Amino acid sequence: MDKPSRGPVYLSEAQIQERVAALAASITRDYAGKTPHFIAVLNGAFIFMADLIRRVELPLTLDFMAVSSYQGTESTGEVELIKDLSQPIGGRDVIIVEDIVDTGITLEYLLDYMHARKPASLRVAALLSKPSRRLRQVPVDYLGFEIENAYVYGYGLDRDQLERNLPYITSLPG
Ligand code: 5GP
Repeated sequence: MDKPSRGPVYLSEAQIQERVAALAASITRDYAGKTPHFIAVLNGAFIFMADLIRRVELPLTLDFMAVSSYQGTESTGEVELIKDLSQPIGGRDVIIVEDIVDTGITLEYLLDYMHARKPASLRVAALLSKPSRRLRQVPVDYLGFEIENAYVYGYGLDRDQLERNLPYITSLPG
C-alpha cells in the first residue's frame, strides 16, 4: 500500500503528552477522595483515554461506548448507538472522554444519554475542539487544544479508518 501524503505535524507527540499530563493533574486535583468513572467514546478516544488515565493518580474505573453520527444530517443531529455502556453509571462520578468536539451533536447526545442515567456528577474531557464548527452548545470541562476548522487525524483519530496509530496529530494536506 502506498504511504499516504500527510500535512505538517499539527500537534507533536511532546505537545500532546504535555497537555494530557496537565489535564490529568487537574482531574487528580478535582476528584481527590473520589473514584471517577471514565467513559471513552470509541473509536477515536481510545489512545487519549489510555494516556490520560495512566497519569491520573486516583483509583478509577472505566468503560467504553460507541456511537456514530450520520454524515449529511448534521442539522437533524441523528446519532446512532453502536455499543452501549457495560456498567451502570447511576451515582458515579462520570467523565466522558472524547477525541474531538466538532458540531457538538455527538457530545450533546452522550450528555443527554448519561444524564438520564443519573450519575452523581458528569464532566467532559476532550482532546480537541473546533469551536468554529459548533451547532450545539456543549460544555467541555477538560480541553486539550482548541483548533481551527481542519480535518485532523492521528493519535487515535482516523483518516478513512487509517492512521489512528500515528503518535502525533496531522491534518490533510491542502
Ligand atoms: P460532532 O458530533 O461533534 O460533529 O462530531 C464528533 C465526531 O466526529 C468526533 O468524535 C470524530 O469521530 C469526528 N470528527 C470530527 N472532526 C474530525 C476530524 O477533524 N478528524 C477526525 N478524524 N474525526 C473528526
